[in-house]
Amino acid sequence: MSSNPQYPTKFCTSCGNQIHQMAEICPSCGVRQMAPPAAYAQPAYAPQGGGKDKTAAALLAILLGGIGAHKFYLGKVGQGLLYLLLCWTFLPAIAGFIEGIIYLTMSQEKFQAQVGGGYRTGAFSV
Ligand SMILES: [Zn+2]
Repeated sequence: MSSNPQYPTKFCTSCGNQIHQMAEICPSCGVRQMAPPAAYAQPAYAPQGGGKDKTAAALLAILLGGIGAHKFYLGKVGQGLLYLLLCWTFLPAIAGFIEGIIYLTMSQEKFQAQVGGGYRTGAFSV
């Protein structure tokens, strides 16, 4: 019942018993302890395109494509402004609708590749 052990201690996140600071699993209750923040680096997985959600982009393209909402969402501000300028022609709305369908049908990997890389819009080629 020593309350002054010779090793650095912490308190179990589950039962509150004093356990070794480096303990991963509490010897008393068997509950895995919270990892110290320094022990684990940030996850290596960092998707291109800032991890944009293709479903959200597709919905924006279909619903608000006429004002380039999906372009702004994807960080393509220049293209978004172009859509906004041309919104009176309804071409951006049509292009946005088509792009939305394309977003929905393409794989997440392909979407990320397009968003992350030099995405050439097919807006005015249709
Ligand atoms: Zn415990």
